Amino acid sequence: MEAIKAPRGTYDVLGGESWKWARVVNTARGVADDFGFKEAILPIFEHTELFSRGIGDTTDVVEKEMYTFTDKGGRSITLRPELTASMVRAYLENGLRHGPQPVKLWGWGPMFRYERPQKGRYRQFAQIDFEILGVSSPFADVEIIDSSMEIYRRVGLSNLRVLINSVGCPRCRPDYRESLRKFFETGLDKLCETCRDRFDRNPLRILDCKKPECRELTDSAPPMIDSLCEECKEHFMSVTRGLEKLGADVSLDNKLVRGLDYYTKTAYEILSGDLGAQNAVCGGGRYDNLAEAIGGPGVPGVGFASGIERIIITMEAQGAFMGNEPGTDVFVISAAGAEYEASLLTHELRAKGVSSDMDFMGRSIKSQMKYASQTGAKFVCIIGEDEISSGTATVKNMKDGSQETTRRESVCGKILSWKEAWAQ
Ligand code: ATP
Ligand code: MG
Repeated sequence: MEAIKAPRGTYDVLGGESWKWARVVNTARGVADDFGFKEAILPIFEHTELFSRGIGDTTDVVEKEMYTFTDKGGRSITLRPELTASMVRAYLENGLRHGPQPVKLWGWGPMFRYERPQKGRYRQFAQIDFEILGVSSPFADVEIIDSSMEIYRRVGLSNLRVLINSVGCPRCRPDYRESLRKFFETGLDKLCETCRDRFDRNPLRILDCKKPECRELTDSAPPMIDSLCEECKEHFMSVTRGLEKLGADVSLDNKLVRGLDYYTKTAYEILSGDLGAQNAVCGGGRYDNLAEAIGGPGVPGVGFASGIERIIITMEAQGAFMGNEPGTDVFVISAAGAEYEASLLTHELRAKGVSSDMDFMGRSIKSQMKYASQTGAKFVCIIGEDEISSGTATVKNMKDGSQETTRRESVCGKILSWKEAWAQ
């Protein structure tokens, strides 16, 4: 029988890689704490309707990419393709709008989209997601954009481009839609098939098309920025001015759209110069009409989502990961008969905050030493035959090879002082 493999578009993250994930997620958690976002842990599947209404049924995600199935109770269920709609649902369902505003939530985890897998594009991928709900101030938009950039600053990413646009609001967008239709009308036959279909349904999304034949035309399309109403113009100015004050290097991209009625005002994207074709590390913006679209009252919101795999690919390309997977502080090597002592010693070391491991395979001292070195232990502590009889242990620094034999009860203290010196 052929061995079973993971489904197309999925992958395993194992030791050797998972520490990179931990570093990115822990950094996001640190930024969330520093900016006052609270973690939300939400279901991985939701009612299909949440996404068809919350993302919009003319989007690629809803039209082509959702993992939808009927459960045993006959309900239509979808594996979440993104987090924003779930965040807004959770905010409404749990009555968070009756508490102090705004509500700042963050989360991370797997998302599912039936896409054509390639580097940086998977069918199960993970996002970090930040949302500020219940506030329409442009400074919340500034805060969202800054929090995403802070994650990249902290993980050491460079060569990023921040693109921003405004997609207006239900007051000014109909006029813009009309001027776009007028613009595309004459060149309709030059557009790809999908875009010809979008022409009637949602012409803004034509701007988003990556096909060269459409790009040629969209390059000279009228910019949204010229059609904004006073309120949207004012909002956009405040956001860009706010970002400027923070020293953020942001450029206007007239073709950046989210393309749906519930997305309003700010739309932004962060691109990496080191990602190749799938170059977006982050996408976000304001969605003042999303809560209503999923059946709630009007609740303004702004947020971003960033793909963890793409952050890691960019970090790797830029050499932002220093060294290898960190090993334990100590590996305790024991001769036959010293297993109880080794077990007690690791137990004591861990209690003092020193990470440690020991041998369970009955290997020779030499091969335990080799294993300790392979797993990246900073120090080894040897309880060999001599040490057993003299009640001592030999502590060895794996970086410079220096070693010292000490009384068994002084081992923890010795390692703690060496660990401090190692960190400097
Ligand atoms: P793209 O244009 O690359 O398809 P998108 O506009 O569909 O991106 P969003 O829905 O805004 O992306 O999601 C935010 C982020 O999630 C993206 O910027 C990207 O980093 C990541 N992302 C989206 N889809 C995938 C995927 N299939 N695999 C890996 N990462 C993804
Ligand atoms: Mg996509």
